[in-house]
Amino acid sequence: MREFGYQRASDVAGAVALLGADPDARFLGGGTNLVDLMKTGVERPSRLVDVRELPLDRIESTQDGGLRIGATVTNSDLAAHAEVRRRYPALVQAVLAGASGQLRNMATVGGNLLQRTRCGYFGDVTKPCNKRVPGSGCPAIEGDHRNHAILGASRHCVAVHPSDMGVALTAFDAVISYETTEGSGELPLCDFYLPVGDTPHLETALPPGALITGVTLPSAPVAARSRYRKVRERASYAFAIGSIAAALDVRDGVVSDVRLAFGAVASRPWRARAAERALTGARADGESFAAAADAELAAAEPLIHNGYKVTLMRNLVVAVLSELLEEASR
Ligand SMILES: Cc1cc2nc3c(=O)[nH]c(=O)nc-3n(C[C@H](O)[C@H](O)[C@H](O)COP(=O)(O)OP(=O)(O)OC[C@H]3O[C@@H](n4cnc5c(N)ncnc54)[C@H](O)[C@@H]3O)c2cc1C
Ligand code: SF4
Repeated sequence: MREFGYQRASDVAGAVALLGADPDARFLGGGTNLVDLMKTGVERPSRLVDVRELPLDRIESTQDGGLRIGATVTNSDLAAHAEVRRRYPALVQAVLAGASGQLRNMATVGGNLLQRTRCGYFGDVTKPCNKRVPGSGCPAIEGDHRNHAILGASRHCVAVHPSDMGVALTAFDAVISYETTEGSGELPLCDFYLPVGDTPHLETALPPGALITGVTLPSAPVAARSRYRKVRERASYAFAIGSIAAALDVRDGVVSDVRLAFGAVASRPWRARAAERALTGARADGESFAAAADAELAAAEPLIHNGYKVTLMRNLVVAVLSELLEEASR
């Protein structure tokens, strides 16, 4: 066991000052990912700065009709919140599709977005991995990549982001707020995760030592009719092999607003903008839904063992949009 320090932060300024003074320190949310990675030696922090007692555990309505969710809100509290359930049902379904009740009681919003990939080579310190040790190679490309990326990957890393919550937040244009010793800042979630390129070890655009303080969801009336569907190898307690967050508004048989994001297909939650463009103004029917899925998946570059994900995602788009359409016409 490697020794490490532990400190509990009581205010935001104090928390960021502690990390500013020690670049090898890490914030500790629920610890459900970080502590596991410390046990295997993937993470070796000098100290943990526990953020769970910071006053960031509230969910509040914003003036424009959106919601602001504090970074230390637990996954369980997020999924149980009445306004989240009413305005963003796909977000609730995504959170409840993740992990287990016990884990959701501990896991926080900030930690969920920063959880690391479940690529087996990343988690095994005896194996090379460009994400863990830059320049060491990517054994997944020639090895086990059944659950790896089909979109936006590179020859340096083909891992997927494991978050379910992040997929729904991406569909609804969430904005991340953070604090550093230099002041506060914001990042739209679509710019939060960096493209893989040749630097898979650099995962987000957060400045060094930044504390995530919250996530703001703008008003999105379309989100009130939304759905999250997750496909996994067993019915519970498993990460996605493909997932979708979708919302649909239809007027006179024509798509007037649509949101689509995919999970477990890329290094980040994948906003399906090509599909959204293809659908907006199109007739709402199975044929348009399939054409929109094809427009998005035209960019897919599957590896030898994960081509099934292209079919899976196409089927998910058609199935979930068809269900939302049926719901709209009731
Ligand atoms: C068995 C198991 C099954 C799981 N299944 C799923 C699943 O199906 N779907 C899914 O989405 N997830 C799943 N998870 C992952 C789980 O959701 C994450 O571990 C959890 O959300 C991480 O949140 P946390 O607060 O515990 O983060 P921590 O483990 O505390 O931290 C994770 C990372 O975030 C950083 N961090 C934490 N809070 C902040 C902050 N406020 N600002 C800046 N940095 C911060 C930490 O330094 C660390 O690097 C599973 C986990 C386990 C163990
Ligand atoms: S896919 Fe990424 S995380 Fe997995 S071994 Fe390759 S570089 Fe590492």
